Amino acid sequence: MQIRLASDLQTDSIVDGEGIRTVIWTQGCPHNCAGCHNPSTHSFSDGALVDVDLIKEEISKLEGQTGITFSGGDPMCQAEACASVASFCHEFNYDVWCYTGYTYEQLLELSKTKKSIMDFLNQIDVLVDGKFVLKEKSLDAIFRGSKNQRIIDVQKSLNSKTVVLVSKYYEVNEKKKNKLYI
Ligand code: SF4
Repeated sequence: MQIRLASDLQTDSIVDGEGIRTVIWTQGCPHNCAGCHNPSTHSFSDGALVDVDLIKEEISKLEGQTGITFSGGDPMCQAEACASVASFCHEFNYDVWCYTGYTYEQLLELSKTKKSIMDFLNQIDVLVDGKFVLKEKSLDAIFRGSKNQRIIDVQKSLNSKTVVLVSKYYEVNEKKKNKLYI
């Protein structure tokens, strides 16, 4: 199996989720968000096709990382390959984050006809969902580009059949906001 990537794995990121993370930049995105920070990842033919086994080998050799983040591009466009890599990440006790332009609800709908979407969701700990909306852009939105995007605990959401947000990231925002007035 192969995956189309926009670049090499990026280690030591502290902005693509909690902790020190390695980011897998997938290539290909259909959303065309105005103001996208990464337009070079939109094409479904650019980047490079890489063997999933090669990615797994690189992950097995990582040091000093706490988690793996799928970003892009939209990783959901390559859900089967991403699910396979994400499952491997859990074998090394890495937590898995994923950024997607789809909403969680859209993904559930898509999963009815595309099993790999649910396979991938089953391997994701935290999902940052929804398109980037320029007028909702905020530096206070920790780990998000715009405030409409949500930071979702995927496993709790799947189990409870409702969207469960990771509340601590929203509490951090409130504390930070309050500090401005002290
Ligand atoms: S979903 Fe992400 S990569 Fe795709 S267009 Fe929107 S901001 Fe850019």
